[in-house]
Amino acid sequence: MELIFATANKHKLSEAQAILGTGFSLVVPSQLGLTGEIPETADTLKENAIMKAKFLWDKFGRPCFADDTGLEVDFLNGRPGVYSARYAGIEADPVKNMQKLLKELNGANCRKARFLTVVALILDENRIFLFEGALEGSILEVSSGCGGFGYDPLFMPEGYSKTLAELSAEEKNRISHRGIAMRKLSDFLNNNFPGK
Ligand code: IMP
Repeated sequence: MELIFATANKHKLSEAQAILGTGFSLVVPSQLGLTGEIPETADTLKENAIMKAKFLWDKFGRPCFADDTGLEVDFLNGRPGVYSARYAGIEADPVKNMQKLLKELNGANCRKARFLTVVALILDENRIFLFEGALEGSILEVSSGCGGFGYDPLFMPEGYSKTLAELSAEEKNRISHRGIAMRKLSDFLNNNFPGK
């Protein structure tokens, strides 16, 4: 079975392909001639994931899925959340985002946070399914490690003494928000399309 995955990120693509297995062949928009950005202008992760998947459905009319992830920090009432990528403004990059986060948490008495991922799968106009994954943890005062991406050097998963940036890619995938949501998607697809 072929599925379109709304990503331009090669790392995400190979991670998703490994989780879904060989029965599902993933195609990305660029392979179908779509090179522009896919709009993600909604105010929640769920709506954004659906918006991205619907964009592909409207264009190609073929089964597709999209994911959206955000970092929710309790002391900041859930921010940056859906705005995690652009937290430090339109010129944001991971370093600027982490600097802003540390500044906003300066003196905070609670540093609890979680990553949340929502995956939206569209099989046809009447069949839209959502899969969610969460990873609880806390935001350190100093970054540590150079693996992963985004806020990984500041995020220590609950029960660990290392940041996500200090874990191997395999270890991170095993516990991560995105890994959990993608495995739920994989279970759903493998249960409903066993013959592929
Ligand atoms: P996206 O929806 O996967 O593009 O994620 C939005 C933003 O959330 C990214 O630009 C990162 O800043 C952050 N983010 C998403 N996933 C992770 C992760 O696994 N580790 C650290 N930061 C992440």
